[in-house]
Amino acid sequence: MKSLHLKPGREKSVRRRHPWIFSGAVERVDGAPESGETLLVKNAAGQPVAVAAWSAASQIRARIWSFDPGQRVEAPFFAQAVARAVKAREALPAARHTNALRLVHGESDGLPGVIADRYAEVLVAQFLSAGAERWRGAILEALAAATGCEAIYERSDAEVRALEGLPPRTGLVRGKREARRCPIVEQGLNFRVDVESGQKTGFFLDQRDNRQRIRALAAGREVLDCFCYTGGFALAALAGGAKRVLALDSSGPALELARENLSANALEAARIAFEEADVFARLRRLRDAGAKFDLVILDPPKFAPTAAQAKNAARAYKDVNLLALKLLAPGGLLATFSCSSGVSAELFQSIVAGAAADAGVHGNVIERFHAGADHPVALSFPEGEYLKGLLISN
Ligand code: SAH
Repeated sequence: MKSLHLKPGREKSVRRRHPWIFSGAVERVDGAPESGETLLVKNAAGQPVAVAAWSAASQIRARIWSFDPGQRVEAPFFAQAVARAVKAREALPAARHTNALRLVHGESDGLPGVIADRYAEVLVAQFLSAGAERWRGAILEALAAATGCEAIYERSDAEVRALEGLPPRTGLVRGKREARRCPIVEQGLNFRVDVESGQKTGFFLDQRDNRQRIRALAAGREVLDCFCYTGGFALAALAGGAKRVLALDSSGPALELARENLSANALEAARIAFEEADVFARLRRLRDAGAKFDLVILDPPKFAPTAAQAKNAARAYKDVNLLALKLLAPGGLLATFSCSSGVSAELFQSIVAGAAADAGVHGNVIERFHAGADHPVALSFPEGEYLKGLLISN
């Protein structure tokens, strides 16, 4: 096995079990390893400390498979890691309320770059790092064995693959099932998931618990769901007894599916309207018209995929939160989210505080939101906590 030698003093993060080795920590590597090749990581004294996958193109030069330098990184290693991740999900309370769960969540499951989401009998997999790509075959095998899913669809088309020097790849890799519109059930609500061309792997599984929370809060309220995608929050609010729901998104295909999702449930369609609109422009018009809502949901796309984009993202978050706060009726609630890895929970709260100050309104944080337990955050990997949200009352 070729070796990666760390610079003096750069072993600390490995000792803290952080799975990434940045380019600045690398003294040298032996030879010219191939993309994704397994390397023995050695400290400056030459002692082995971990085994990791090499990624020449990325600033994250290596991702650690194991902190046991004696670990053999071969098919059985992946079979074991995948089986452990899948078993952990079976024990979650959410597994009793839905047939759609994230089964493998990258670094937190010891599998950097590997994502697997289950939508009923269809599994959607993503291979987002050079190491994951190299072991794709073994991981697919392990996923099929651990889940018994009829079909596996690959959605390795996330932008981060480019940073690893990998081209996008999508398509059905196993099974013959027509997997375009995959029906799932979440807390008694039916959703169709477009695993082929939907966002991410097709559905925002990370918001499951928060949709349920919105459902509990919605009774009798006028609800505005901004960035509604396929209607997750909007339908949860309707099911929870919202007086009326206005749901906005700029994506025609997402709204088409949202309307299909509405029809797939025994809900009162007259109480909900889906509208294709740019949220920023539409909220300004609602503000100018003096509209008021009792519950506003803001779940925008990642404005800052990395910390470097945090500044521009802060502007966008502030603008949209300011507009939303102005639309709140007295006694109203704002559920506001950020899924940007580059924006910490602390920064996000200060942005929302700035928006409230500029809007001239008082806001109290009455709850905090996170991704569900099928998206765990490893203690050693705080970067994994990308989704954060606040419930604000005025
Ligand atoms: N709340 C959703 C997920 C939202 S994802 C759920 O729980 O399922 C973000 C959504 O924002 C996407 O559907 C995208 O189409 C939409 N979007 C991005 N920019 C937008 C804009 N400027 N105006 C309206 N929608 C936008």
